[in-house]
Amino acid sequence: MNSFSSKSRNQLLSFARNEKFDLIVIGGGITGAGIALDAASRGMKVILIEKDDFASGTSSKSTKLIHGGLRYLKQLDFKLVREVGQERAIVHRNAPHLVYPEPMLLPVIKGGSLGKTSTAIALWLYETLAGVKSSEKRKMLSKEATLLLEPLLNDEILKGAALYTEYRTDDARLTIEICKTAVSYGAICLNYLKVNEILKENEKVIGVSVSDGLNNDMFNFYATYVINAAGPWVDELREVDNSRKGKFLHLTKGIHLVFQRSRFPLKQAVYFDHPDGRMIFAIPRENSVYIGTTDTNYKEDKEVLEVTNEEAQYLLNGTNLMFPLLKLQISDIKSSWAGLRPLIHQEGKSPSELSRKDELFISESGLISIAGGKLTGYRKMAEKSVDFVVKRFKKEFKKDFGNCKTENIVLSGGDFQGIAEVANFIEQQTGESKQVGGTFQLIRKLVLKYGKNTEKIIALAYELWPQTENKDSVLQLAEIKYCEENEMVIFPADFWIRRTGALYFEYEGLIEKIERFQDSFHVNLNKTHSELREKHYSLLKELDKSVNFK
Ligand SMILES: Cc1cc2nc3c(=O)[nH]c(=O)nc-3n(C[C@H](O)[C@H](O)[C@H](O)COP(=O)(O)OP(=O)(O)OC[C@H]3O[C@@H](n4cnc5c(N)ncnc54)[C@H](O)[C@@H]3O)c2cc1C
Repeated sequence: MNSFSSKSRNQLLSFARNEKFDLIVIGGGITGAGIALDAASRGMKVILIEKDDFASGTSSKSTKLIHGGLRYLKQLDFKLVREVGQERAIVHRNAPHLVYPEPMLLPVIKGGSLGKTSTAIALWLYETLAGVKSSEKRKMLSKEATLLLEPLLNDEILKGAALYTEYRTDDARLTIEICKTAVSYGAICLNYLKVNEILKENEKVIGVSVSDGLNNDMFNFYATYVINAAGPWVDELREVDNSRKGKFLHLTKGIHLVFQRSRFPLKQAVYFDHPDGRMIFAIPRENSVYIGTTDTNYKEDKEVLEVTNEEAQYLLNGTNLMFPLLKLQISDIKSSWAGLRPLIHQEGKSPSELSRKDELFISESGLISIAGGKLTGYRKMAEKSVDFVVKRFKKEFKKDFGNCKTENIVLSGGDFQGIAEVANFIEQQTGESKQVGGTFQLIRKLVLKYGKNTEKIIALAYELWPQTENKDSVLQLAEIKYCEENEMVIFPADFWIRRTGALYFEYEGLIEKIERFQDSFHVNLNKTHSELREKHYSLLKELDKSVNFK
């Protein structure tokens, strides 16, 4: 049994209910996905369970950067800088269409946190520790050269800049591709299943009790070990296990705002100082520019996370000071998102001072919880968690699942020899898809999301061509079908938010598109018409929430 198609969901469920797994992973964010891949590739029987959609928690709400670890330099954590630098190189190699370099301008300003010399020294140290390639090393720029690169910067406070390299990604797509790869190694990954109870025998964890979000069925899954990778919800599950003792989570909220590129014509990604000393990113992406982020304590309801007017205004103020010609206003915002960092509490530390390090908590019942960390370090977090399980298997059952293999596992769609090959592939597939309406722009978008799997979408478009009345829609229909059959899309929101990021970056005409393609989603298993309408309106509500703030 090996499938990531929503058409196989019922079959997968019946199979899983009668199986004893080696490992249950709770949570389908990047941490859980990474663990499922690591464990499945070592030969374990794994099931991953997600209460909503994959990446619907923090893993679709980040700044979407695979950091090299520059911020850890400030905390003098040299070991972490080195590790994060190495991880960035690995994830780029294994998914070059999804993780690639983004030159970042770091302006040096009057009264700013760093001067030119200290910036150059800090970047030199960072690049040395992180093992940055020579072609991606910093360049120190004069004020004039900086303004040539980014004319929107405030020339009254600008003294010059450093140009260094960050890597950008699409967090939700990275999570999905990791799940897909885990499935190719035999893992079962299911969304819309919520863990309500941790099952125990003789006070030891033996499985979980779940409810199915699609039809309210309840059932149990059994496994030798259970890992709780529920991100901001980790402590809730520890409470269910009666083991929330000692260290606990400290959630901090971060928001991002999106503008049309024509309104914010940024040429170049910039990492700049807010007057309060925090740093803000402004990053161009296709026809948009997004800015972020904030870092504030969060203790309210995790299920209704929203950007507030005050938070939006804070980012606008900082941005308008650095780019004074823009005079951005709330009404210019085209989309937004808010996320929660699942950090570990440290007494007396402010949100920005809290360590981003990850940690394993092992309860007396044997529940393994992993908390903290970053998108960038997901592979190492997975290795640490699965190594722990492997040790337990060895000790308790004399069974050896061996060492971590993920360093050399190419992620689904990522089979390219670097970004030059990605560019060639875009050209080639544009040629291949001309007859079904493929243009360079459309195919580029697809390749940056699905990599080599774009070929499968184009093949589906050829299949659908004869029966499709509106020929302009055929590639869109093929993309929806591909995601239903290969990426476990259940509801339209899964597609428009997590699989494509359209809610954040393709918002023009999106409502009309959602309405037009509503009936093209076929796999709404066991759902009544009114339930589907309800889901449809909750998607429109998400859209409304992304531009209207309280
Ligand atoms: C504003 C912001 C910006 C960031 N920027 C970056 C960045 O640029 N680069 C970087 O490296 N990191 C960044 N991070 C950090 C990074 O995004 C997170 O560390 C990471 O996404 C956490 O992933 P996770 O899988 O642990 O949690 P999540 O993605 O939240 O996944 C946990 C999942 O568990 C599920 N779940 C919860 N309870 C249950 C249950 N009972 N049953 C089943 N499933 C359950 C949830 O629905 C959720 O999908 C940022 C974070 C924030 C908030």
